[in-house]
Amino acid sequence: MKPTSPSLLDSFRRACRPPARLAPSAWASGRVAIQDGLTPKYQIENAPWQREPLDTLADADAKEIVFLAPIGTGKTTFMEAGLQYIIAEDPGPTLLVGQTDDDLKDWAETRMDYAIRNTPDTAALLPQDRHKRRKMQVLFPHMSLFLTGANLSGLQSKSMRRVFNDEAWQYRPGMLNESRGRLHDRWNRQFFILSQAGVKGDDLDKAWANSDKREFTFCCPDCGQSQPWKWCNVVYSLDEEQTNLERAQSAKLKCENPECTWTCIDAPQPRRLLAESAKYESTGSGLPGHIGFHYNVLCNWRKPLWEIVLIWLEAKAAMKIGNTDPLRQFIQKRLAEPWEEDLTDNRAALVGNGYLASEYANGQKIDGEAFRFLTVDKQRDHFWAVIRAWRADGSSVQLYFGRIETFDQIHDLATRYEVASKLVFIDAQYDTDLVYSAASPMNWTALHGSGQKSFPYKKKNGDIIQRPFARFAEASTTSGKRCRYAHWASDRVKDILHAHRTGQAAAWDIPDDVSAEYLKQIDSETKREITNSKTKQVEYRWVKTRRDNHAWDVEAMQIVAALMLRLIPGFDV
Ligand SMILES: [Zn+2]
Repeated sequence: MKPTSPSLLDSFRRACRPPARLAPSAWASGRVAIQDGLTPKYQIENAPWQREPLDTLADADAKEIVFLAPIGTGKTTFMEAGLQYIIAEDPGPTLLVGQTDDDLKDWAETRMDYAIRNTPDTAALLPQDRHKRRKMQVLFPHMSLFLTGANLSGLQSKSMRRVFNDEAWQYRPGMLNESRGRLHDRWNRQFFILSQAGVKGDDLDKAWANSDKREFTFCCPDCGQSQPWKWCNVVYSLDEEQTNLERAQSAKLKCENPECTWTCIDAPQPRRLLAESAKYESTGSGLPGHIGFHYNVLCNWRKPLWEIVLIWLEAKAAMKIGNTDPLRQFIQKRLAEPWEEDLTDNRAALVGNGYLASEYANGQKIDGEAFRFLTVDKQRDHFWAVIRAWRADGSSVQLYFGRIETFDQIHDLATRYEVASKLVFIDAQYDTDLVYSAASPMNWTALHGSGQKSFPYKKKNGDIIQRPFARFAEASTTSGKRCRYAHWASDRVKDILHAHRTGQAAAWDIPDDVSAEYLKQIDSETKREITNSKTKQVEYRWVKTRRDNHAWDVEAMQIVAALMLRLIPGFDV
C-alpha cells in the first residue's frame, strides 16, 4: 500500500504558517542547501557583498535592482539563495532569464534542483506530480517558476511578479526591455539584473545609469575615510626590471586619502575584516525604486591580491602589442565595470629608421635575423608586395615594398631576397583558384583575411585557446593541385599591426627612402564602431578610408606570419 505522503501535510502546514519575517539574507543563511558551495548551506558571511542586494527581495519599494558583480564571487549561489526565499517566504510567479535556454537548463537540472530538494522549506513545496516539473518550468502549488533564454519567444506573454536576469551583458540589444515587459506594471513587481559588466552604453549599462549606483564601501581603519575598493588604490612595484610576478607580489591596497599612510597587506584575514565591515553607499540619484549594487574582485579576500595584479600586468603587456582582449576581460569580469573601446587614433607621421632599402637589395641579413617573409596582395592585374626581416624579440625591418606585375616576379623577388618559399604568403581572397594554382608548385602559402574574431586552437594539454589565425589546411584547385592556406582574423591582426605602426609594440622599422605611395597606403584604414546587422551588437572594425590600402594589407599579413612563427608573443596563453 502506498503510504500517505507526509510531505503533503508538511507542505500544507508550511503554506499556512506565517512568514518567518527574517531578512532574506538571514533567512537563507544556514538554511539554503548549495551544491558545490564553500559550505553545504548558504552562509551570508561568506559573501558579505550579497547581504544588502539579497535583502532587497523583501523591500517593496525596490522595483528594479541592478547587481554588477565580478566573476567567481558567488553570483550563482546568490540566485539559489534568493530563489529559495521567494518560494518559501514571498511567493509569486517568477521568471529566470539566462543568455540561452541551454545555459539555464544545465543550471536548473543540477544546482537549482539540488537547492530546492535539499532545502527543507522548499522541498516540502515541490509538486509531487512530475508533469508539473519540467526542465523549463516548475508549477508549485502556490506559485509558478519559469526559465527561458533571452529570446523573443521566451520573453513574451507570461505575466510575472519577479524576473531575474542572469548575465545580462550577453543579451542581444532590446532583450532586457522585452524581459521588463513581463512584469506588466504590477504594483509589487521586482526586476533583478545580475551580471558582470558589458560595454559602455549597452542595455545593461543604461539600466545601471538609471540606478542609485551603490558601491560597496569600507572605512579606512586609520583615518576613517569611507571609500569603495578602487583599482587605482592598488599599489605595486613599478620597477620594470622585476618580473611581473615579483611586481605582483609587492601589491597592497592603500587608503584613498592622500594624507593617510594606511595600507592593507595581501593576506586573507585583514582583507576579510574590511569586507565584513563594509556597506553599500549610493553614488547617484537614479530613478525612484531603481537600486544599483556594485563591487569588484578586490573585496574578495579568497582571491590573493598578487594573483589579481598579475592578471592585470599581463593584460597591460598584451595591450602593448595590440591585444586588448585580456584588459577588456579584466575590466568587465574582475572589476565588473563596462569596457569602453579606445578609438582615439593619433598616428604620428612615419619617419625612416636610418637605413636605405638598397642596403638590403641583395639578400643581406639584418642583425639577429630569425625569419623573413614576403607577403603579397593580389589585385586584378598586378600585385603589391612587402618583405620584412624579423628578429626573435618581435622587432622587424622592412626591406622592400612595391608593385609587381606577374607571379614570376614574386618568385624573382623571393629568390633575390632569399626568402624561403614557404615563407612567401599570398592573399587568395581575389582569384582564389588562380592564386592556389600559382602557389601550389612554388610551395607558397595562401592566406585569407576573415571577419571572424579569432579561431579556437586545442593545445597539447587539451586547453582550448583563441588564436588570431587558423590552422593550416589544404585546398585542391580545379586542376587538381594542392595548396596550403590559412585564415586570419582581420580585425584582431590589424589591432596588432596598429600597435606596431604607432610604436607601442616592438621596433617596426621602415627605410628612409620608403616611397610616398607606401606612406599613403599604410594609413588607409581606421577603427570604427559598427552595429552588426545580424546580431545588432556594437562591434569595432577596421574600415577603409582610402581606396588603395595594399601596404596596410601586406603589412598585416607580415603580422600573421610573425604570429604563426611565435615572433610576436602574448597570443597563445
Ligand atoms: Zn586612511
